[in-house]
Amino acid sequence: MLTMKDIIRDGHPTLRKVAKEVPMPPSDEDKKTLQLLMEYVKNSQDEEMVKKYGLRPGIGLAAPQINVSKRMIAVHVTDENGKLYSYALFNPKIVSHSVEKAYLVKGEGCLSIDEPHPGFVPRYARVTVKGFDIDGKEVKIRAKGLPSICFQHEIDHLNGILFYDHIDQEQPFKPIENAIPIK
Ligand SMILES: [Zn+2]
Repeated sequence: MLTMKDIIRDGHPTLRKVAKEVPMPPSDEDKKTLQLLMEYVKNSQDEEMVKKYGLRPGIGLAAPQINVSKRMIAVHVTDENGKLYSYALFNPKIVSHSVEKAYLVKGEGCLSIDEPHPGFVPRYARVTVKGFDIDGKEVKIRAKGLPSICFQHEIDHLNGILFYDHIDQEQPFKPIENAIPIK
């Protein structure tokens, strides 16, 4: 299993690389990596595991964050209605998005970033994501609210982008036009 020791931190060059596509059907090694990502996210939401292994809680993790520069993410998050979005994906891609924006009122955090970077991170309010599941089967997901933001944050990692890159440096809390605040 993965612990915080396996997660690389801001400043590590892998976090700034564009990750490589994973060939389909996935190899056993790539499947294993994808499983480890999801296992970390789930464990990090389990109070006992958090205490036992000193995990930092998260709702998503991308392969570059464990120093594997390949296009894989795991997302395990519930929306405001309690609906669970639990997806481990190879080669995830945003295929369409709303014009409307959204942002987390408390700002974003990242398991690879120890320092706080306060400020609003503009995201699309709604996204449609396509990718391949652990068996190499194509999946299509529509997400809004927190799950939508989580997908965008994780897919950014595959392109070497960190959340604070999106924050307005001059005015971090400048209101974002045409955007839904998410609590
Ligand atoms: Zn992150």
